[in-house]
Amino acid sequence: MISLEENYLNLRADIAQTAEKAGRAGDEIGVVVVTKQVTSEAVRSVYRVGATMVGENRVQEALRKRSELSDLPLEWHLIGHLQTNKVKQAVEAFSLIHSVDRLPLAEALAVAAQKAGKVQEILVQVNVSGEASKFGLPLAEALDGIRAVMALPGLSVKGLMTIAPYGEPEEARRHFRRLRELFEEAREIPGSELTVLSMGMSNDYRVAIEEGATLLRIGTAIFGERNKQNLEEEC
Ligand SMILES: *Cc1c(COP(=O)(O)O)cnc(C)c1O
Repeated sequence: MISLEENYLNLRADIAQTAEKAGRAGDEIGVVVVTKQVTSEAVRSVYRVGATMVGENRVQEALRKRSELSDLPLEWHLIGHLQTNKVKQAVEAFSLIHSVDRLPLAEALAVAAQKAGKVQEILVQVNVSGEASKFGLPLAEALDGIRAVMALPGLSVKGLMTIAPYGEPEEARRHFRRLRELFEEAREIPGSELTVLSMGMSNDYRVAIEEGATLLRIGTAIFGERNKQNLEEEC
């Protein structure tokens, strides 16, 4: 049986190879190891072979694991939909929040960050595909939305995030490309500090690398299939 450590190392090797083929450096691509529904011990295993960023989609589950793993210098990322009433806990726990999917949430996070005396790093989530089941700013409103979020105190907008529809990886390409184009436009906004393009999951990360992803969010390719029921975007 292949261990989690090997899965992680094989994944990193595949990322490096895919990046090189695309004319990119493998070490400019980060992996957020998505640890929802996996045990803290499993997180330790991948930490031992080099993983440093972990992604959770539920605040409570993240807080529990974070305290169980407080001896490890891990960076915790929130990747799932966040309810406004949990912003205080989120600001305490996460170094990067990928899932800022609506302006009122950004405003609430800005207030919480200022109260905590923190500059909260965030990504703006964009619903590029327009699927009704997906969270995120609609594409047509995204650039104005990014400007509005950038104007808030207490937040630092580091980049953009999207989730492509699940299906043939090649189908994801146009969505990733569109997010990349929006990213380039947003980088032109005066004062912009955008450097992060969070796109690509187990199923479609190779295409995401080819389209310019700087941060992949990967669970299944390391830990195997878990309960698909709350796989995405819940909180
Ligand atoms: C679960 C999840 C991932 C990881 O998906 P895998 O297919 O398990 O790699 C990435 N991003 C988000 C937002 C998720 O909810």
